[in-house]
Amino acid sequence: ANEHVRKPEWLKVKLNTNKTYNDLKKLMREKNLNTVCEEAKCPNIHECWSERRTATFMILGDTCTRACRFCAVKTGLPNELDWGEPERVAESTEIMELKHVVVTAVARDDLKDGGAAVFAETVRAIRRRMPGTTVEVLPSDMKGDYESLHTLMDSQPDIFNHNIETVRRLTKRVRAKATYDRSLELLARVKEIAPHIPTKSSLMVGLGETKEEILQAMDDLLAHNVDIMAIGQYLQPTRKHLNVERYYHPDEFEELKRIALEKGFKHCEAGPMVRSSYHADEQVSETAAQ
Ligand code: SF4
Ligand code: SF4
Repeated sequence: ANEHVRKPEWLKVKLNTNKTYNDLKKLMREKNLNTVCEEAKCPNIHECWSERRTATFMILGDTCTRACRFCAVKTGLPNELDWGEPERVAESTEIMELKHVVVTAVARDDLKDGGAAVFAETVRAIRRRMPGTTVEVLPSDMKGDYESLHTLMDSQPDIFNHNIETVRRLTKRVRAKATYDRSLELLARVKEIAPHIPTKSSLMVGLGETKEEILQAMDDLLAHNVDIMAIGQYLQPTRKHLNVERYYHPDEFEELKRIALEKGFKHCEAGPMVRSSYHADEQVSETAAQ
């Protein structure tokens, strides 16, 4: 992190590793699967995997065609498409007895459909094996290709999640190959295709944005009919990634959450360790009930 900005106490958590965690980690290697939980060294992994029974699978390989400057996923020439992956994700969902699964993917700008067909097949494979498990998709912007979006939406996910990640002004610096408007439009389009499916987006704070810009991002998301918002602290994965400009105090997250709900989001998670997929299991039932 920034030399001047020291990591506050509330972010110093020990990775809680117990037997369940180790077993599940082994399962991921056996099935040749990647999870964001592990890749991002997510501090919530014990709570999510063992207690909440939720996990975030990262499909379509472990190599991304993009290189966002906050993200630890490796960049390069992607792997061959693996059509066995959907079934292996479904098997693992069953073995892990997951109640809520988030399926995300690296951006596959090399593929015509951005990987949407494998993505949709993954949702279907989970449904076949685990009809009671809710499935949330967290795709890239698929280069704004709406045919790909339809392919994915045909699989009828329980939540559609796509992250704007940062405020408008910082988008170019933080995720060079994406645009703020393209992400907003994607979210709006999902609501047009399937008004009953809750949409969700996340923001990382600590990248140098102002409070006004955060509030503007909330308004922009609401103007594009987004139902759920998540706000978390940006943490620098390695020294090569963007510096943390500021650590927000837990009280500031509380304040942002209050504002988000006041403005009209149906659900908001905000906190230092909140990630896009944090407490996602609760959001399905809550937004569905409204
Ligand atoms: Fe995985 Fe998300 Fe939970 Fe972190 S918050 S452990 S990435 S499911
Ligand atoms: Fe990471 Fe997603 Fe950006 Fe790829 S597109 S670098 S996986 S955040």
